[in-house]
Amino acid sequence: MKKALITGLTGQDGSYLAELLVAKGYQVYGLVRRTSTSNLERISHLAGNVEIVSGDLLDQSSLMDVISDTQPDEIYNLASQSYVPLSWTQPALTAEYTALGVSRLLESIRRCQPDARFYQASSSEVFGQPDESPQTERTAFRPRNPYGVAKAYAHWMSVNYRQHYNLYTCCGITYTHESPRRGTEFVFRKITNTAAKIKLGLAKELKLGNLEARRDWCFAKDAVTAMWLMLQQDTPDDYIIASGETHSVKELVECAFSSIGLNWQDYVSVDPEFYRPDEPVQLVGSIDKMKTQLGWEPEYSFAQLVESMVDYDLKKLTDSSM
Ligand code: GDP
Repeated sequence: MKKALITGLTGQDGSYLAELLVAKGYQVYGLVRRTSTSNLERISHLAGNVEIVSGDLLDQSSLMDVISDTQPDEIYNLASQSYVPLSWTQPALTAEYTALGVSRLLESIRRCQPDARFYQASSSEVFGQPDESPQTERTAFRPRNPYGVAKAYAHWMSVNYRQHYNLYTCCGITYTHESPRRGTEFVFRKITNTAAKIKLGLAKELKLGNLEARRDWCFAKDAVTAMWLMLQQDTPDDYIIASGETHSVKELVECAFSSIGLNWQDYVSVDPEFYRPDEPVQLVGSIDKMKTQLGWEPEYSFAQLVESMVDYDLKKLTDSSM
């Protein structure tokens, strides 16, 4: 039985990855920080299939203990301080988790379990203001916020440990990925959730910012399949994980409302409160390398993702057991 250790188990990606690995017959361990309140909501359905181990990316010895005790074949680092606005107000803490946390993890692997395969969650935020579109694995990193800077450090440390110590490390540069487990502060879930509420008479309107903003959105479930696939190869490498296409917020709204038989123009208004002062250039990832080398591409189309999330939100709002 293969063993996998996931950091960031309680997040969106961690919970989907744990599901995938459990279904594949892995023994899954999840590194969780001790907190006084439980945040295991996203993985409650996996209770009994995932073993929680206590540790913290800020604490080297806790990582070494966990890795020595569990001896994982695969380690997925999905943990980070990932909220970009907070990375401006707490830049040093962001670097501690998102950058130095990866150094500690890599050192722990090198010392305790050098044969383990390591997945590092890189982010399209490393590109910041890219000089080409779509971005590829060779596009220069020009991060524009402390989160992106920390992710760029983590990416290059993972590459360096591969080159210098011959560790099996892979970086997946993920673009925005969504799911019903995403928070409603993000525009995708905000739209699907509010559209569902309007349909049920629980809300009257939807206020949004820039309707022309475009994103490369894919389903979190597709993204975690790509992460797993990367660690199954003979040779470790870095890949972009994205949908390869962009859609505007307006297209998202149209698709969500029309899927439940409503005309979006009757409900949506633009509110300056949700406008971003400093909108990044449009990021879109090329998935050519993923397609040709690993045979991966997203299973869910944009429309399928929107419709399935509206559907989920309708069910969640009407079924108290969900
Ligand atoms: P992120 O910026 O990629 O982390 O994800 P968001 O989902 O928060 O935002 C995606 C895009 O939607 C951005 O370009 C926003 O400017 C745009 N957007 C338009 N209206 C809204 C809104 O009401 N809320 C949010 N969060 N974003 C909005």
